[in-house]
Amino acid sequence: MTSHNQQLTDQVVQIIENLFINVEKPIALHEPSFSATEIEYVENAIKSTYVSSVGEYISKFENEIGRITGSKYVIAVSSGTAALEVALSAAGVKPETEVIVPTLSFVATANAVSNIGAFPYFVDSEPISLGMCPEKLEKVLSTLVFDKKNKRLINSETNRAISAIVPMHTLGHPCQIESLIQVATKYGIPVVEDAAESLGSFKHLANGERKHTGTFGVAGVLSFNGNKVITTGGGGAILTDNENLAVLARKLSNTAKIPHAWEYQHEITSHNYRMPNLNAALGFAQIEKLQSFLEKKRKIASYYENQFSNLDEVSFLSEPAETTSNYWLSAIRLNEGDLKTRNEILNRCVENEVYVRPLWDLLSNQPMYRSCQVSDISNAIKLHSTVICLPSSAILSTYFEN
Ligand SMILES: *Cc1c(COP(=O)(O)O)cnc(C)c1O
Repeated sequence: MTSHNQQLTDQVVQIIENLFINVEKPIALHEPSFSATEIEYVENAIKSTYVSSVGEYISKFENEIGRITGSKYVIAVSSGTAALEVALSAAGVKPETEVIVPTLSFVATANAVSNIGAFPYFVDSEPISLGMCPEKLEKVLSTLVFDKKNKRLINSETNRAISAIVPMHTLGHPCQIESLIQVATKYGIPVVEDAAESLGSFKHLANGERKHTGTFGVAGVLSFNGNKVITTGGGGAILTDNENLAVLARKLSNTAKIPHAWEYQHEITSHNYRMPNLNAALGFAQIEKLQSFLEKKRKIASYYENQFSNLDEVSFLSEPAETTSNYWLSAIRLNEGDLKTRNEILNRCVENEVYVRPLWDLLSNQPMYRSCQVSDISNAIKLHSTVICLPSSAILSTYFEN
């Protein structure tokens, strides 16, 4: 390691250590916050005996998610991964086709594609939002061949049709979704947004309105896993304004039973992915705190930004222009850093029980996806080796007084 990088490592570790000097260790990357209402609502659900896939909290939870996101239809399911699988299927993704996903994402994005029998095709991100790069996407789509007979775009290297594009809103920061949709529309490919990390994140539109992430494509998905902004224990949701897609998604996520007083007739093969009422009760209590969580996370972000502002070699990852981020995870980038510097910082912080984390290992490098198609991913490689995610639980705002 060069002496310069050693100095940078020491400076970054020092700043992070000082931040948590008076905080009880270990410091989680992201832990949920609960109070009495979570216990009360879950207890209500138990007392009602409706603990599974029927119960009042499911529709209450779905309605609230609809109110917050502005999505016309919301289907609550058992995980974000399940939501992605259902959304992709409902959007028309068939086995043996390819779905374009960012290589810089959590493994669930590619797993959902793979679980429904399709193949991920990995593309690059851009360094501002960390989301899929519209120019790189266009470059990839321009290499596809139009199959006139079946009216589909074919990847001539694999002979498979491209059936969807899945941009992801990384760490809660809205990606360049409007440009991505513009490119996708030009080629007639549906967009399903992985908005798992971005509940409470908005794009500012030219007309002054704010539009929630996950509501730009034909469908979008949210996750309510324990480490996300709000949690249902485990859970996810499909967002869409398309009635037919919503009806199909609901069928795919339960048993597709034809309503009848006593007969068991089912329309299609389906999953059992419905969110249990117990989980929806927990989530309904969490939604009441969403605004306060978002304010706290913004406070945490601005505190970190301030702490690192004197270090030229480090940039705090701020929300992109014309967006409001939920700041799910605050993160810094080492401008001149490399993988070795990053790892040294991670090692030393984790030794001190401050659980900073890197971005995910690139999906195109994971053993099960190494044989999939991958385009030029130079930005993602750089981002992967230089970004460090900082502890971002809402509770930390109590220690961060500006
Ligand atoms: C959390 C997450 C998901 C979904 O995860 P689940 O644990 O299945 O709810 C999907 N994509 C991304 C990018 C995520 O961060």
